[in-house]
Amino acid sequence: MTLRACIHRGAGQVGGTCVELESGGQRILLDLGLPLDAEEGEDPLPNIAGLRGEDPSLLGVLVTHLHGDHCGLIPTARPGLPMGIGAKAARILREAEFFTGRPPLPEPTWTLGDRESFEVGPFRITPYQVEHSALDAFALLVEAEGRRLFYTGDFRAHGNDSDPWARLLADPPRDVHALLMEGTQIADGREGEGPSEADLRGTLARRFREWPGLVLASWSSQNLDRLRTVYEAAREAGRTLVVDLYTATLAAAAGAPGVPVPEVDGLEVYCRRRERIQVKEAKEFGRVRRVHPHRVFPEELAARAGELVLMQRPSMARELEQAGALPGALAVWSMWRGYLEGPAEQRLQQVLARHGVPLEVHHVSGHAYVTDLRRLVDAVRPVRVIPIHTGDPGKYAATLPWVETRQDGSWWDV
Ligand SMILES: [Zn+2]
Repeated sequence: MTLRACIHRGAGQVGGTCVELESGGQRILLDLGLPLDAEEGEDPLPNIAGLRGEDPSLLGVLVTHLHGDHCGLIPTARPGLPMGIGAKAARILREAEFFTGRPPLPEPTWTLGDRESFEVGPFRITPYQVEHSALDAFALLVEAEGRRLFYTGDFRAHGNDSDPWARLLADPPRDVHALLMEGTQIADGREGEGPSEADLRGTLARRFREWPGLVLASWSSQNLDRLRTVYEAAREAGRTLVVDLYTATLAAAAGAPGVPVPEVDGLEVYCRRRERIQVKEAKEFGRVRRVHPHRVFPEELAARAGELVLMQRPSMARELEQAGALPGALAVWSMWRGYLEGPAEQRLQQVLARHGVPLEVHHVSGHAYVTDLRRLVDAVRPVRVIPIHTGDPGKYAATLPWVETRQDGSWWDV
């Protein structure tokens, strides 16, 4: 008996990650992600016994973090498949479903906690908290038959909360035979270090101070660390941050230190037209009532322009135009630049251009810089490093020590 592994997706691509582990005929999955390039109508569920039909040798799936490219296929797997995820991540996803309309995730069978080991059949699992652009993210140490595999999931060392990274470096898992480590940045052609969330906060605070009118800021609602950065930058610049109902709801569900919620000073809520319709159709008026004391209405925007940073999404372009909020505004894009190519984003840019609103990109990656990948390898000192979640495993192998690449769909001994 031994511990064997197969990367079903992720050995040479970012997104849609799925790793299967087997020991003594029993199996678990690490992540079950939706590929970023999945087309409407195709079935990207990997061909794994027990995902579509019942197979008792598949014991369940452990999810490192809430991003769809790591857990998005779970609702399409057979009902009742046991699942493990962080408690906060599960809460955030459950609240997000109302706004995104995505199919619900099942109730977790296992709740992941930092360095709280548990057993699943022959596998001993130890989650390690990591920092990522999704809250409540974990790396997973899996042990069976004396072999040890450490899968990082997605992580970075430059977020607002530096504790998980410091603890991981100070007390990493020992005697690891295979380190499955993400390498998103390597494939993006970056080297060395890059800017941190703290650097971004400084840049944003300066732009918020310099700009006389309304600032419109775009970022992902599920990136609550970025909410914290934008909020702190707005406070530093003496402005109030106004987020949409979706973001306010996720922040409240997270209940995480440092993540602002609508009760704190300097955070208010703007209910987008689309959100007001969703609430009305679902008759869940409590969602709006809860934020009522902190609400900002469209007719206030122009008058309070110089004191606000307003979270913006492409779907809001028309209502902001009708509210007369665009003349004199500045738009800040705090997401991956590539998303600006999307059709809704293109329309948004046309509306902004029509009103002379400049668009600036100020963003920081959710993934570890190459220097930090090297630091983790040095700390863990595994027998081998296996690339995952990278578009360029060849460059990865040329960049880091002890790398052995694997192919999607091939089995190997840990
Ligand atoms: Zn991620």
